[in-house]
Amino acid sequence: MSVSIRSGFESIPSYRAGKPAQLGPDGLSAKLSSNENPYDPLPSVLDALAAALPASVNRYPSIAAPELTAALAARLDVAPENIAFGAGSVEVASQLIHALAGAGDEVMYAWRSFEAYPILVQLAGATPVQVPLTADGAHDLPAMADAITERTKLIFVCNPNNPTGTTVSQADVEAFMQRVPGNVLVVLDEAYVHFNVDADSAVGLDFFKCYPNVAVLHTFSKAYGLAGLRVGYAVAQPEVADALRKAAVPFALSALAQAGGVASLAAEDELQERIDVLVAERERVTTALRAAGLPILESQANFVWIPAGAASDAITEVFAERGVSVRCFSGDGIRISIGARHENDAVIEVSPAAAALL
Ligand SMILES: *Cc1c(COP(=O)(O)O)cnc(C)c1O
Repeated sequence: MSVSIRSGFESIPSYRAGKPAQLGPDGLSAKLSSNENPYDPLPSVLDALAAALPASVNRYPSIAAPELTAALAARLDVAPENIAFGAGSVEVASQLIHALAGAGDEVMYAWRSFEAYPILVQLAGATPVQVPLTADGAHDLPAMADAITERTKLIFVCNPNNPTGTTVSQADVEAFMQRVPGNVLVVLDEAYVHFNVDADSAVGLDFFKCYPNVAVLHTFSKAYGLAGLRVGYAVAQPEVADALRKAAVPFALSALAQAGGVASLAAEDELQERIDVLVAERERVTTALRAAGLPILESQANFVWIPAGAASDAITEVFAERGVSVRCFSGDGIRISIGARHENDAVIEVSPAAAALL
């Protein structure tokens, strides 16, 4: 006799982490496959982590995360009761699914979107409902509204969308919300919100303040560069936030993660300068790749998307040989994170050879 893993488990995909880069001919090794922040942590954040370290090892962290909760509530102008944390917002997404959807329930999202959604939905035993993006890589919100059934419990709207970088407009989300029943929770996943400079874009917190069935997901992993510390949160109605706390893995938000979050909120001006540079680099890369003949979508995140279709694997290989690891979605496209300037230079340098494969 051997143990048996739950039936259907083998058909759930595993999460694929971005690959590290191989060494390029000039020694370059640029990991542009995970949308990480290329900057070293700020000195003030490292100081806060060093100060928190001795007391964070043998003791459990506070589950309530009172300092980070207070700092965020003040920053976002919401009540502390509205905030629920996880070890990264991917854990919060998992909490949301577990708290709202079980066997027989449907969780909807656009496709292609964040790779974790189908995995988390299936792990929770719920049914994923994927609504194709439009031809230009954007959410098709009218089609998503059409796909709502009485079994729909939760809808993820990833804005900007990972991996296409597209946004949903304020007007389109408003029209969408008019069609979503009040018992269905709409989650605006704003992992890349700090890089979004589109004035027409929907703003999650504005919708949260108007609609009780809206929640917002934020993370410190991307713009704030704390991916390794694992800290993300939801802003939701108190009943929903309570349910998320119940669904949370106890003590998953470490004391170091909490300290890193507080220190980052105190250093927002410095972090904004880095975000501004990354946004400018995104525009530089977009312009150069288009000039090389790659059909780059307009991105509002810290990555660009090449809808390379059948050429995706071959183009990925061209970047790999240059020492640049990109994220390949075989048969569909390639996502390239915006890195440090010299890394982006290498991406631009390779782009004519990549375009020749289209
Ligand atoms: C990166 C990402 C997240 C969360 O990352 P964490 O490190 O778990 O906070 C959530 N949603 C999307 C769409 C992402 O791309």
